[in-house]
Amino acid sequence: MVETLNEKFDAVVVGTGPGGATVARELTNAGKKVLMLDWGSNAPVKGSNAQALGYIGMPYKSLYFIDNFLGLVRAITVGGSSIVYYATAWEPPFDYWDKYGINLRDEAAEIKKEVPINPLTDELIGPSAKMIARSARDLGYNWQKLNKFVYLDKCRAKCDKCDLGCPYGAKWNSRIFVQDSTAKGAQLLDLAHVTRVIVENKKATGVEFSRKGKKYIASADRVIVAAGGIGSPIILENSGIPQAGANFFYDPLIAVFGTVKGLDDGKEFPMAMGQHMVEDDYLMTDMTLPWLIYDVFTAEVFRLDKLSNKSQLTIMIKARDSLSGKISKSGFIKKPFTQIERGKLMSGFERARKILKNAGAKDIFKTWWIASHPGGTCKINDIVDTNLKTEIDNLYVCDCSVIPSEWGRPPVYSILCLGKRLGKHLLAGKSESRATAAAPAGN
Ligand SMILES: Cc1cc2nc3c(=O)[nH]c(=O)nc-3n(C[C@H](O)[C@H](O)[C@H](O)COP(=O)(O)OP(=O)(O)OC[C@H]3O[C@@H](n4cnc5c(N)ncnc54)[C@H](O)[C@@H]3O)c2cc1C
Repeated sequence: MVETLNEKFDAVVVGTGPGGATVARELTNAGKKVLMLDWGSNAPVKGSNAQALGYIGMPYKSLYFIDNFLGLVRAITVGGSSIVYYATAWEPPFDYWDKYGINLRDEAAEIKKEVPINPLTDELIGPSAKMIARSARDLGYNWQKLNKFVYLDKCRAKCDKCDLGCPYGAKWNSRIFVQDSTAKGAQLLDLAHVTRVIVENKKATGVEFSRKGKKYIASADRVIVAAGGIGSPIILENSGIPQAGANFFYDPLIAVFGTVKGLDDGKEFPMAMGQHMVEDDYLMTDMTLPWLIYDVFTAEVFRLDKLSNKSQLTIMIKARDSLSGKISKSGFIKKPFTQIERGKLMSGFERARKILKNAGAKDIFKTWWIASHPGGTCKINDIVDTNLKTEIDNLYVCDCSVIPSEWGRPPVYSILCLGKRLGKHLLAGKSESRATAAAPAGN
């Protein structure tokens, strides 16, 4: 039996990661009646290992092992992956977006006023990030502080909670936007798993979801699917858009470890500093991990001799991969891990090895392949138009899945801008006709 919620909403937003939370807030601020639905829980973030495992460690819900045993991760919780992300605020590549006729400059400036974006102070940068930076600069690299979505006054040194979920309110995450919205009258239903969009006469009229063993329908004038790079295509494929989920990216990465003497803590803000190796198509940063994640990565490559070793310098290499693969309507994920991606990561590994060696590290080894930016599964110019509208009237997508081509950078700042832009578009009440893309795809 399916129960229909009594109220009708101006908009139902599926997913409360950076994309969904931003659109929901824009619409709520303008007085619209908004319902947010999220599969994850809204229980307060504690920063514990057990809770983080619940967010990111559930096989085939948040953690997928796909081709080549690459571990692809997302967080299922209110706030999405921004609860566990490293808060690196990578300015939207404006030239890239311009090619699609999407000017994000105004939105980027607005986001900057609403969200903290700054590098960490020297006091908040840990000793291993500093050692790596010194060594990289000594070898001639332009290794610099990265901008972070962080309230500096609330952040603490010698803390490893970023990856687990910051309980101190220091790391900005999209739950903050969700809370803004609920304070202004929007409704949030957590633990609500959306299965499909209801489509009548080629128009979206609501969504079907299950919650605590019961099935419901929520009706709305507009449906915004923002369930992330994995969640959104699954919902679309189950709603009459079978071509969603094809040819996506995930930005594969490895971490490279090297043992040094005297680092006996291992508690630092990850990704404090680094460098984009533009020519070689990858990003290198420090990335100190909390012990549980470090131990999982270490055990995965059978370096049992290094388990629980808190004296590791760690460099992350994150590459831009090519578009391929498919996420099926049942959530099965396939994507070849090619020699090209492997080559980029191995080139980064060689560089990292030299930087770590120069810093005095020994016993250098790397993790297995990992990825944490699934996207491009509902691409602009393909599944959605430049206003993020699908071929179905009143149905929009707004999250990492709309990124139109290969990516290879931290995506959240761009996603926040897209959320703002979609909010403005919906509020302007422009026609529902499909906006044609301005320019050819490409980087
Ligand atoms: C460990 C880690 C570190 C990262 N570090 C950075 C970083 O430093 N900087 C950066 O820019 N990016 C980083 N990222 C990536 C970034 O967090 C994501 O790209 C971003 O959160 C994607 O936003 P989104 O809105 O597309 O979706 P998500 O954040 O994935 O949110 C989707 C939401 O939808 C919900 N959902 C999914 N399916 C359903 C369904 N069927 N029904 C209802 N709800 C559903 C989920 O619970 C979730 O709340 C990191 C990611 C990880 C995992």
